[in-house]
Amino acid sequence: MKNVDVVIIGAGPAGCATAISCARRGLRVALIERQAFPRFRPGESLHPGIEPLLRQLGVAEPLCGQAARRFDGQWVHWHGPPRFNGFGGDERGAWQGFHIERALLDTTMLSQAAALGAEVHQPCRALRVLTQANRVIGVETDNGCIYATCLIDASGARGWLSGQLGLPIHHCSAPLLACYGYLQGRSATYATTAHLLADPDGWTWITQVEDCLLHWTRLTFEKNTRSVTLPKALQALPVVGTLRGADVTWRITPAAAGAGYFLVGDAANRLDPASSHGVLKALMSGMQAAQAVTDCLRQPALQLLVQRQYRQWLNDGFSHDMTHLRDFYRQHPRPPSWLPVE
Ligand SMILES: Cc1cc2nc3c(=O)[nH]c(=O)nc-3n(C[C@H](O)[C@H](O)[C@H](O)COP(=O)(O)OP(=O)(O)OC[C@H]3O[C@@H](n4cnc5c(N)ncnc54)[C@H](O)[C@@H]3O)c2cc1C
Repeated sequence: MKNVDVVIIGAGPAGCATAISCARRGLRVALIERQAFPRFRPGESLHPGIEPLLRQLGVAEPLCGQAARRFDGQWVHWHGPPRFNGFGGDERGAWQGFHIERALLDTTMLSQAAALGAEVHQPCRALRVLTQANRVIGVETDNGCIYATCLIDASGARGWLSGQLGLPIHHCSAPLLACYGYLQGRSATYATTAHLLADPDGWTWITQVEDCLLHWTRLTFEKNTRSVTLPKALQALPVVGTLRGADVTWRITPAAAGAGYFLVGDAANRLDPASSHGVLKALMSGMQAAQAVTDCLRQPALQLLVQRQYRQWLNDGFSHDMTHLRDFYRQHPRPPSWLPVE
């Protein structure tokens, strides 16, 4: 049995950002992760807004230095001539996103959390939430119990704590399944920009993520099919690994903070990959939750207010991104039937 200030379930970007930010504030942190690293996860194309966050977390140097593969934005082939959606820019030039091997992102962030004093338990699985008088007080893992003043659920799309506490989840789209895969090869077309191609059932997103590796993701709005027709130039390229699928139904847990807990990253809310900044949101929510936890520990009388502000911040961000994605899908040649009427 252990006692810490914060126990974090999941060592993806959201969990590690929380761990690093809490450890920096002098909190005693336990981070538990059920899988050994390196482990596979999609999400290697990162929004430029991530760079300042990685700097704050002390991991920018190894991740977005000279060697990083940059890209300017994406070409959208919705209807009419293709349209370039850049990330924007300032007096120093165009902002650029970058591709990072997810295994490198995950291991670098986990090492930084450990270096700052977070106790890492891996592989270690959260089995059951521990509560007392309607307050979360810790977690039972397959390696014993950990008691904490605050539990952070960073378990990703599984939403471990929502399941444990029976928190209501609002689904904001039809059920959506994204399928995705990798091809070995190089293509000048996708080298510096991603392409988002519309078809009658949805879209396919293609980009060059490494020197000799292309990634594609396909989403169908209504059919949840796993079939994909890639552009002719790519059809002959060897497939790397297996075809994978992920549930990317839009969803949010409104009660994302409560007595003794906060939800961060995909565990709190999620849109499909066309919103294109899942990792950015994971880092931001982890860092925001770390501040909220610190405030609750230092001024317990304010915790209800802090929890409410965190929920509001998450809900506002989600609504903003969802409105943006709905507007984008309304311009699709065949918009999803489940979009609300304006
Ligand atoms: C096809 C696809 C493409 C995507 N492309 C992009 C992209 O290009 N750019 C981008 O920014 N985002 C992308 N995303 C979204 C991105 O992958 C996620 O938003 C991001 O990984 C969320 O991070 P997280 O830390 O919340 O969760 P995760 O990265 O999923 O981490 C959760 C961790 O919790 C652990 N865990 C779960 N349950 C337990 C338990 N019971 N006990 C202990 N540990 C547990 C898991 O093993 C995992 O390591 C994509 C998503 C999909 C499906």
